Amino acid sequence: MSDRYLTFVNTPFGRTAAQSLGLPAPVPLKRWKRIDQPFIEGDVLIGAANGSKAIGAIGRVLGASPAKLFHASAVATLNDSAKSGNKAEALPLDGDGGDIERKFSALVFDATGMKDTTDLRAVYDFFHPTIRKLSANGRVLVIGQDPASCRQPAKAAAHQALEGLVRSVGKEIGRKGATANLLWMAPGAEKQLDSSVRFFLSPRSAYVSGQVTRIGKSADAPASNPVAPLAGKVALVTGASRGIGASIAETLTRDGATVLGLDIPAAMEDLQSVMSAIQGKALACDITDEKAPKQIADFVKEHFGGIDLVIHNAGITRDKTLGNMPEHFWDMTIAVNLTAEELIDEELMHQELLRENGRIVCISSISGIAGNFGQTNYATAKCGVIGYVEAMAKRVKNGVTINAIAPGFIETQMTAAMPITMREAGRRMNSLSQGGLPIDVAEAIAWYCNPASNGVNGNVVRVCGQSLIGK
Ligand code: NAD
Repeated sequence: MSDRYLTFVNTPFGRTAAQSLGLPAPVPLKRWKRIDQPFIEGDVLIGAANGSKAIGAIGRVLGASPAKLFHASAVATLNDSAKSGNKAEALPLDGDGGDIERKFSALVFDATGMKDTTDLRAVYDFFHPTIRKLSANGRVLVIGQDPASCRQPAKAAAHQALEGLVRSVGKEIGRKGATANLLWMAPGAEKQLDSSVRFFLSPRSAYVSGQVTRIGKSADAPASNPVAPLAGKVALVTGASRGIGASIAETLTRDGATVLGLDIPAAMEDLQSVMSAIQGKALACDITDEKAPKQIADFVKEHFGGIDLVIHNAGITRDKTLGNMPEHFWDMTIAVNLTAEELIDEELMHQELLRENGRIVCISSISGIAGNFGQTNYATAKCGVIGYVEAMAKRVKNGVTINAIAPGFIETQMTAAMPITMREAGRRMNSLSQGGLPIDVAEAIAWYCNPASNGVNGNVVRVCGQSLIGK
């Protein structure tokens, strides 16, 4: 279903009409288009609080892009690898930003050096003169230290404070299609930053804003092919016949994986057509069937010998207020959205089919975070998904990670079936004033699956355009 309002306000007449009526005027989001497209282009300004540790890694990642780098000389004391390795040009900032004529495609600030809340001033000094210079579809990325790893309360407070900053910046810049996100790095996890810096600065994260991702320290990531990072990997995608699942299957294939797509027997025709376009394999299976976990594991063993990426995408809604909800609505919704995932993982692990450095990705929902009228069953299941991911993240071994995506309003058959008022509210009630596309969820999953994302474990990242609903 197309968003006619988005198309309309991007005509000259529509823009004027929206302005005069005070209506939101969403900017079309730039998404990642070509396999050889650099993750970022244009001018990028980087800065750091004194003593920050991540700036070298950021400089290295950005140095490999065609972006022209500047460093904010007035606030940052950059280490040599950030400056010289990437030939970042010093840019003096004054209070008004009046000396900066150029527009930036990204503003990146390394705050990991902050020791207490007085150091937050460095954040203001960097962003105040520059934030208005951020271009449409631009990126703000802040890197702090995970507050859980800060021993001093004043230091923990300073790093926690960045969450409030980023969420507010996201709301201020969303009207130009720009996003703001925060990475909380564990001490010593500089080498684990690369894939996340690339993702959050690139058009792949077009619909992700106001999010905090924890990056843990882990073994060095194995070298991977930047154009096909998932080459040699086998991915199971449930609910792959349409919508978000089909897009996940296509995106993981684009990144080099071989896909085993699964869906209910009634969806076989659609599943076959998605799989034949990507040379994937199709499996007819109702994941709530008690034989399903074994059926899936046996299929994986026979056809692939093991599995690297398990994407639990299949989901259903059966909406009714709690008092009116028949018990089969409750049972089915919990079974598909939550219990089936646990049982499938259990069987794959029991049969030792999940390979080293494997990835499990579950799909939650903003309904699971905020709750939703008429969705007690769905929100219960999707909140349970978060609990499952957080608990499993502490248990997984052999380089395996488990994370969740919580989509907001994504344009699919599921949301097309909503009443028009709810659909329009879902589309507009976020910082970017538009719905997301299945590809936005798929790109975030591809980031989790990247071998270089081995420090990203136990996270729940929302792909919701920074929905006003929930945290
Ligand atoms: P969709 O209804 O278009 O697709 C869901 C797929 O899951 C279908 O192909 C369906 O046949 C399959 N499926 C359902 N029950 C199954 C079962 N028992 N066994 C095997 N397959 C089964 O939904 P979508 O919008 O693409 O959503 C994909 C996921 O994203 C779901 O988990 C959904 O809850 C979640 N989500 C979607 C949105 C959104 O805005 N579309 C928002 C939040 C979360």
